Amino acid sequence: MIPYSRQDINEADIEEVVKVLRSSHLTQGAKVEEFEESITNYLDVKYAVTFNSATSALHASYLSADLCEDDEVITTPISFVATSNMLIEVGAKPIWCDIKLDGNIDERLIQKLITSKTKAIVSVDFAGKSVEQEKIKAIAKENNLIFIDDASHAFGSEFNSKKVGSFADMTIFSFHAIKPFTTGEGGCVVTDNKEYYEKLKLIRSHGVIKKEGYSFDMTQIGYNYRLTEFAAALGLSQLKRIDEFITKRDVIAKYYDQAFKHEKLFSTIKISENLKSSHHLYPILLDHSLHCEKELIFKELQAEGIGVQVHYKPIYENSFYKTKFGNTRCQSANDFYRCELSIPCHQQMSLDDAEYVANKLLEVLKQHSK
Ligand SMILES: *Cc1c(COP(=O)(O)O)cnc(C)c1O
Repeated sequence: MIPYSRQDINEADIEEVVKVLRSSHLTQGAKVEEFEESITNYLDVKYAVTFNSATSALHASYLSADLCEDDEVITTPISFVATSNMLIEVGAKPIWCDIKLDGNIDERLIQKLITSKTKAIVSVDFAGKSVEQEKIKAIAKENNLIFIDDASHAFGSEFNSKKVGSFADMTIFSFHAIKPFTTGEGGCVVTDNKEYYEKLKLIRSHGVIKKEGYSFDMTQIGYNYRLTEFAAALGLSQLKRIDEFITKRDVIAKYYDQAFKHEKLFSTIKISENLKSSHHLYPILLDHSLHCEKELIFKELQAEGIGVQVHYKPIYENSFYKTKFGNTRCQSANDFYRCELSIPCHQQMSLDDAEYVANKLLEVLKQHSK
C-alpha cells in the first residue's frame, strides 16, 4: 500500500530520541527550548511555543486571543474538525465562509460575514498551499480582528518568498506523524506578539508562574499541553531535513502536474509563482461526471494499493454541528467534498511509485467514465 502521506524516520532521528531516553530529563528540559529556537530561526518569527498536538495548540491560541462566549469567528469548513472544535471548546461560534477551487477560504467572501460580534478569522492552508495571507491580514486589520492561521499542512510553505507563520497574529503547525515533519504527536504556535507568547506558555503548563525558590502562583486556568523532551529531540532532528522532505514531495507533485496536464477526467490545484507548497497533500478534483462513482473509485484504488483519502467533509456536515447549528450550506465546500481525492505524495515515494499511482488512477477513472 502506498499511503497518501507517511513519516520518514532515519537512524539519526532514532539516535537523538534514544539519547534523551538515556538522559535525566524526559520532560521540561532543554530540548523543547532548543526545538522552539530552531522553529523560530527556520520560520523567521520571534516566538514559538510547542504543544503536545496541534489541537492543544489551537485551543491555547484561541484562549490567548481571548475568544469566548458570544464571539463569532469566521473560518473554513474544509479542514480537519479540530479547527472548529476548539472554537466550540472556548464557547465561540464558528461562522463558516465558503472556499475557492483550491480548497482555501475565499477571502472575497469574508467581509460580508463580519458582524459586531466577529472577533477573529481562522484560515487553513489547505494541502500546504498558503491562503492569501496579505489580503486576509488586511481584512483583519481594517476590521480590528485577530488573524489566526491553522497551518497544520503548511510547515515550510511560502507566500511571497516568506514562510507561512510570519503573516498571521498566531500560526499553528501540526507535528502529527504524517504532517510535513513529525514529533509523533505534537504541534506549535508561532507569533511575533510577546503578549500572546506569554499567555500561550501559561496555558500550556497549568497557568502557573514560578517565583523564588519553591514559591509559585497560579494566575489562570491552564492545562498540561507540554511536548516531551524525546518528542522535541525527534522534531529537532526532523527539522534538519524539512527542506529535503519538501523537495522530494515537490518532485512527486511536479511529476503528477506534468502527467495530468491534459487530463479531462479531473483537475489539479495550481501553485502560483509567488507560492511554495509543502505538498502535504496532492489533491485531485474529479469531473462532475464521476461524482456519483467516487465511492467506488475510492475503494478500487485502495484495493490496488493506492492509499487515497478524502479531505475533507465540510465540518458543518458532522452530526454534532448539525445538531448544534442546524443545516449550514457553503456550495463550493459541498462541491469540493464531492470531487476531492488526495492521492499519495510523500517523501518516501519514488518516481516509479508516482508513475504507478498515475497509471492506475487513469485506468480506474477511465473505467468509470461514460
Ligand atoms: C492535523 C490537523 C489538525 C490537528 O492536528 P493534531 O496535531 O493531530 O492535533 C488541525 N488542523 C488541521 C488543518 C490538521 O490537518
